[in-house]
Amino acid sequence: MKNKIIAGNWKMNKLQSEAKQLIEELKPLVKDTENTVVICVPYTDLALAVEMTKGTNIHVGAQNCHWKESGAFTAEIAPSMLVEAGVEYVIIGHSERRTYFGETDATVLQRTTAALNAGLKPIVCIGETLEERNSGRMEEVLERQILKGFETITAEQLKNIVIAYEPVWAIGTGVTATDEQAQDAIAFCRSVFAKKYGKESADELYIQYGGSMNDANAKALLSMPDIDGGLIGGASLVAKKFADVVNAYKK
Ligand code: PEP
Repeated sequence: MKNKIIAGNWKMNKLQSEAKQLIEELKPLVKDTENTVVICVPYTDLALAVEMTKGTNIHVGAQNCHWKESGAFTAEIAPSMLVEAGVEYVIIGHSERRTYFGETDATVLQRTTAALNAGLKPIVCIGETLEERNSGRMEEVLERQILKGFETITAEQLKNIVIAYEPVWAIGTGVTATDEQAQDAIAFCRSVFAKKYGKESADELYIQYGGSMNDANAKALLSMPDIDGGLIGGASLVAKKFADVVNAYKK
């Protein structure tokens, strides 16, 4: 089994004073882990987070980026701007972006491609809604998100991408997928990647689980064979809870 990638998605939370306190608390709590630790913070916290995590094992990510390098795209941010700020990772296609801001598989592909071209590591989110799962369409939806969202992505590019399987019904609801549901869905996603890129590339690919993962359920989820990490929302806003997720799994 691989070491895990544990990423916190702070969403639209934490003023700079709060971010400072959280990062200060987090640093000593995760310093001994062999897992990769990422915090994806609001734009206004990026400079602070990059500065505060220099020389530590904490990596900094953003939560979105545009596909153009510059231009008349009010309120968007270019991948090169993130790179210049010292950012390494970027979340793309989170279900909240898909639901509230019109993100589609096509725009996910554009953003992912631009992020890769700039040297960022995209964390690309996929996942089905409750209605899609209950009507027996989970696999169809995941397959579509992968085939359309990765249509022109090469095997070489895939090496720099992390996937987050996040069932929409489990995000921010307190309802976690069972270990078996998460494992089965992620194994299915890996099989779709294997069909497109070959087994070796699919096996190397990091696929996280996200959806109400926390200090209480992380160990069991992260022990499943196909779950290579977690994308953590609510529980990443409290240093001790996030650190407990990071430290829940040792190879
Ligand atoms: C997320 O925002 O990606 C997420 C998984 O949120 P939560 O952990 O709060 O469900």
